[in-house]
Amino acid sequence: MTDELTDGYHRFRQNRWPAERAEYEALAANGQKPHTLVVACSDSRADPALIFDTAPGELFVVRNVANLVPPYEPDGKLHGVSAALEFGVNVLQVKRIVVMGHAFCGGVNAMLKGSPSNCQDFVAPWVEQAAPTVRRVVEDFPADQVERVAEETVVRLSIDNLRTFPWIAEREAAGDLVLSGLHFGIADGILSKLTSAKRFERLG
Ligand SMILES: [Zn+2]
Repeated sequence: MTDELTDGYHRFRQNRWPAERAEYEALAANGQKPHTLVVACSDSRADPALIFDTAPGELFVVRNVANLVPPYEPDGKLHGVSAALEFGVNVLQVKRIVVMGHAFCGGVNAMLKGSPSNCQDFVAPWVEQAAPTVRRVVEDFPADQVERVAEETVVRLSIDNLRTFPWIAEREAAGDLVLSGLHFGIADGILSKLTSAKRFERLG
């Protein structure tokens, strides 16, 4: 481990552990019962646990490049995001799935401008799943709005793809599961929420 990680662990043991020990012990004894599954980007600046100020046990988090949810494809191949969704929804029975995009997303930028030359094995095909949709949508917007519109489009697309999973669609239809989309501004710390009108509006 780097010094940063060791130092952080020591702070955790000294400061947080004494205060939160009972909470961890209860989670160990009773198991986890997170209320929300979050699909977020791997970007180091948009950490769901920090932004939602949550405690251990509250969020079941899936992070990947550009907060993408692929469509339902039960083909026996290696689907990490879908595996997390299946476990979170069918076993943990989360009540909410939140897809959170963010500003300055490198993955979304790769959809617009191509992936870095040394990221062709995995990043390029991964972001390509959303790139045609994103490029089509941003055509109608001025250059200074393209990044933001693209980031919002990816959140909408991921939510559309969530509904291709039959056990997600069924639970949503039954009123047992709520799907929502968010965008985190990073520089201003502001969260915007996808409304029923398909627009993103600043959270009050
Ligand atoms: Zn990102």
